[in-house]
Amino acid sequence: MPELPEVEITARRLNRALTGAPVESALAPGMVTMKTYDPPLSALAGREITGVRRVGKMPVVELGDLALLVHLMSAGRLQVFDARASLRDKASRLLIRIADGRELRLREFGTRQRAWAKLLPVAGVEGDEAVAKLGPEAFPAPSADELAAALDQPRHLHPLLRDQRVIAGIGRSWVDEVLWSARLSPFAKGSELDDEQIGRLREACDERLGGALEHYEEVIGETVPDKMPMPLQVHRRAGEPCPRCGTTIEAVHYKDYVMCYCPEEQTGGRVYKDRRLSRLLK
Ligand SMILES: [Zn+2]
Repeated sequence: MPELPEVEITARRLNRALTGAPVESALAPGMVTMKTYDPPLSALAGREITGVRRVGKMPVVELGDLALLVHLMSAGRLQVFDARASLRDKASRLLIRIADGRELRLREFGTRQRAWAKLLPVAGVEGDEAVAKLGPEAFPAPSADELAAALDQPRHLHPLLRDQRVIAGIGRSWVDEVLWSARLSPFAKGSELDDEQIGRLREACDERLGGALEHYEEVIGETVPDKMPMPLQVHRRAGEPCPRCGTTIEAVHYKDYVMCYCPEEQTGGRVYKDRRLSRLLK
């Protein structure tokens, strides 16, 4: 799942590659990809790409007074290719053909079609329901007051930080990293954080999400790869020593994600039960 740093580097690279590029045509081989029909995709023909940016985990491709808002969901990628896709490419969801022969392609891995796009007036992007409901951006970190207000809910931090309506840009990978950097328990409640803990969380957002972006700027060339070289320290590293204190990283497995944490530094030494096992034992 591409999260804030991965979508931001994608938007930066696309912006560099495509600003000023004239669109020849656009089509959506993914039958359920377009969530809007007015204006139609054909309205993009003859327009110029004027910029690519990011909001939350969504890339936004601007074409004059129209904008394509894209949600990659868990398996989508937005990439530029030098040649056009075969129409038989089952991964293609949306194709924006550039006059010079290149193609901006929304692809999705796996069989499910969940990635989507909306063609909107550029002035309507902020008001679109997918954007309007987003919380403050996780990077750069919101002010202490703004973050404290956003998190003031009696919910565990792990799901709270992944809730895009609470704070925008963090998903299943970076939540583990941010909580570990802030030395906070994934089971602490948002409404119970004190000022000092809010401060640590802000620093962790800037350090880890900003650090990932700097890393990508250094190691990724002009083309964003399918698999991102994510600088992760604890996520998916259960059983390995904590890079800070050497304690074994523990994991709790849920239905569709894994939570990793350092028990020594985050949960007061407490190791939580693996939910898969407890479900089996019931
Ligand atoms: Zn540790």
